[in-house]
Amino acid sequence: MTAHWNAQWREQILPTLADETWDLIVIGGGISGAGIVREAARRGWRCLLLEQRDFAWGTSSRSSKMVHGGLRYIAKGQWRLTRDSVRERQRLLDEAPGLVEPMSFMMPHYRGGFPGPRVMGGLLSVYDALAGRRNHGFHDAQQLRFLAPGVKENGLLGGSCFVDALTDDARLVMRVLHEARADGAVVINGVRVKQLLREGGRVCGVQVEDGEGGTTLQLRSAVLAVATGAWAERLRPAEAAKQLRPLRGSHLLLPGWRLPVAQAFTFLHARDRRPVFVFPWEGATVVGTTDLDHREDLDHSARISSAELDYLLAACQQQFPGAEIGVDDVLSTWSGVRPVVGSATGAQQGEPSNETREHVLWQEPGCVTLAGGKLTTFRPQAIEVLKACAVMLGRSFVDDGAPVFAAVPPLPIPGLSASQWRRLAGRHGRDLPRLAKLLGELGPETVGATDTLWAELAFACEAEMILHLDDLLLRRTRLGLLLPRGGEDYLPAIRTLCQPRLAWDDERWHAETQRYRSLWLRDHGLPQITS
Ligand SMILES: Cc1cc2nc3c(=O)[nH]c(=O)nc-3n(C[C@H](O)[C@H](O)[C@H](O)COP(=O)(O)OP(=O)(O)OC[C@H]3O[C@@H](n4cnc5c(N)ncnc54)[C@H](O)[C@@H]3O)c2cc1C
Repeated sequence: MTAHWNAQWREQILPTLADETWDLIVIGGGISGAGIVREAARRGWRCLLLEQRDFAWGTSSRSSKMVHGGLRYIAKGQWRLTRDSVRERQRLLDEAPGLVEPMSFMMPHYRGGFPGPRVMGGLLSVYDALAGRRNHGFHDAQQLRFLAPGVKENGLLGGSCFVDALTDDARLVMRVLHEARADGAVVINGVRVKQLLREGGRVCGVQVEDGEGGTTLQLRSAVLAVATGAWAERLRPAEAAKQLRPLRGSHLLLPGWRLPVAQAFTFLHARDRRPVFVFPWEGATVVGTTDLDHREDLDHSARISSAELDYLLAACQQQFPGAEIGVDDVLSTWSGVRPVVGSATGAQQGEPSNETREHVLWQEPGCVTLAGGKLTTFRPQAIEVLKACAVMLGRSFVDDGAPVFAAVPPLPIPGLSASQWRRLAGRHGRDLPRLAKLLGELGPETVGATDTLWAELAFACEAEMILHLDDLLLRRTRLGLLLPRGGEDYLPAIRTLCQPRLAWDDERWHAETQRYRSLWLRDHGLPQITS
């Protein structure tokens, strides 16, 4: 099924989309849209997913990449969110090893600091109770020094530890989409929904524009699900009250050797007492995140500001003073916009971090919009959306709890270590046999010091709907974040492997590299210093 998921397939299928009335059109190719189309396709619904740019282009490639209950949500009394999240965390750990992996978290304690070990221990007991398993402990100062050389010493009492999970968010979206496609869904990027079509007071379809060719089409569907994240209000009726509060969170990526951490560290930032994280990811170290009102145009990718850079560097200095992390150490940055449903408007708005991360559904006849939510809870969110859609369709709908992901066959691949196999199986699932063939051809070499195999790049070009170079380097793989200067030094070798597979001529390759470089500098480089 995935064999022909490429630009040629897209060109052929686009004009045919208007030939049928779909059971469900899903708008938005982030984790929410992916989850909805996956669960609907599994039930035999005839589904189409439309993404305006690229899959996971929005927040779903720019999150903190944690599959977690979220301790801070307990502290804020958001029980339902925490309970659902820890359950889904366990489900994803069981279903997608290699893509969702356990990660040990550590919160160091200092004399006179809050929360102290007791309060934290109590909080973690509640967290464990919601998850149904004991998963926390305490390390004294000596053990902590051993586990985290370079950690701030002054007044160190020890650290509370617990277990959550990490993922590659963009690959999680891709794996869910591959599952949906295997069950017959049509999933397409570069197609923007310009407006919803209404007939007799009911939403009955969409007007779309092909972002690559400019063609406009009208598509009909029995019901629609809008999963456009921070853009959710754009397709609502003009008279609907504005409720979304876009909040930006930014991250720094440092080379692993500059700030080596074996587990995730969480601590309260001295400036505002917000929890921040320093954690290992894909061989590098992530520092995040910020939380502030995002007032820029949502049509441009969010990017880090100088103030956020300063805040995150200060966090490194606070917790790991000996490492002396500075601007020159930053490999790349990314920022995402949280589609948070605000509790108030205007001057009544409180601190961004106090806004709930719970999702809500907005409904009008023929259309369900999902707003807010988390990466971790994409499955229950999707089920809720589809239950509402099913009522509109007059169909029954039950959550049978079936796995999101098909089991991966135990396929031995010569030359791969056990951990490489696990990583590939987690990221590619049912496409593993196809990838194995490419590995036979290209060998198990990785790109630079990253874990990404050259064969993964080749596979993405052949079968993962690449429209632009940034799709390949920022979302199908994360090389653009992990390699210095966005992977500039590797572009010639990437060209040799990928240009023929993408069927791009030289002119197209040059245009794509130009586009990629300027996009990378703007969205993933250091902020422009404005005086
Ligand atoms: C900084 C930050 C850190 C986070 N960390 C975590 C975390 O660690 N764990 C966690 O569980 N959650 C986390 N979250 C929350 C999580 O990332 C989001 O809830 C989730 O990614 C939202 O997914 P989505 O699919 O709803 O939105 P998006 O991923 O933004 O997807 C919406 C898509 O809709 C498309 N679209 C918009 N308009 C149209 C249109 N008219 N036509 C077609 N397509 C359209 C966009 O291009 C976009 O791709 C974090 C969020 C942020 C901002």
